[in-house]
Amino acid sequence: MKKYAVFGNPIKHSMSPLIHSYFAKSLNIELSYEPILGSLDKFETEAEKFLKNGGLGFNITLPFKQDAFNFAEIKSDIAMITGSVNTISLKGGVIHGDNTDGSGFIKDLKNNIKYEVTNKKILILGAGGAAMGVIPNVLSEEPSELKICNRTFSKAQILSKKFSSFGDVDAITMDSQKKLQFDLIINATSIGINNLKFDLPNNFFKKETVCYDMSYGKAANSFMNWAKKNNLKFYNGLGMLLEQAADSFYIWEQKRPLITDELRSILNKQL
Ligand code: NAP
Repeated sequence: MKKYAVFGNPIKHSMSPLIHSYFAKSLNIELSYEPILGSLDKFETEAEKFLKNGGLGFNITLPFKQDAFNFAEIKSDIAMITGSVNTISLKGGVIHGDNTDGSGFIKDLKNNIKYEVTNKKILILGAGGAAMGVIPNVLSEEPSELKICNRTFSKAQILSKKFSSFGDVDAITMDSQKKLQFDLIINATSIGINNLKFDLPNNFFKKETVCYDMSYGKAANSFMNWAKKNNLKFYNGLGMLLEQAADSFYIWEQKRPLITDELRSILNKQL
């Protein structure tokens, strides 16, 4: 049987095994997909062992995406740009690294939510791995501007410099007095994981602003409650999770699984 997995630490919460087993069943492909709790200082050894024991590929979640980048012998363009890998595939004995977070995010926006980023004013909150993973894909859709706002301002500056050749991107602080009125606000912070209160200044939004939280389940509640309070449209990151998984599946099996309402409802019950 074909062997796949997801490496992370922690890994218990991961819904990837459920998603990939569903994809495989829907396409009549026999495979196993196991969650692997990676040891913090032994990623390379454990990843190598998995491939030596017949593994054909695996996903990578926190905190191993940069280790996976170093582990890959050949990296896709987007992996090179972001410096992180969420999908490893073994092809002809060579280890390939790719990153499907950004493509999954854009597919969720365009295909599911029917939102076009082109010519829109976009705000990304956060400057960690999740923000870095989607910024190049957002810029390639040619928004009119992209601002990054992060608790640690210097990290937002580093990201905006890193991606400045891809489009109009800049770092801002929460106390910016300008009438910014973003069209789309993306939360790529982990504020919601600790259920902390979410707030944004009034000059950051208008009544048509769309809110997207890359988190899902309880972790999306802080931003969702704030959006509801301000009567703004809100979406969580479950669609992104599914789309990035479908893109990984395609890399491994060259078949794109359908993301069905049944699968969404199975996952919603797990959250
Ligand atoms: P990360 O690298 O640890 O970055 C966390 C970010 O959140 C940093 O910018 C950090 O700011 C900010 N932050 C944390 N606590 C904060 C607080 N109390 N107030 C303000 N800012 C705070 O994490 P990540 O990998 O980017 O993940 C972020 C979120 O995205 C997670 O909830 C993750 O589940 C989600 N995600 C979803 C998908 C999906 O497929 N839907 C994919 C990837 C990630 P500082 O720089 O100041 O520390």
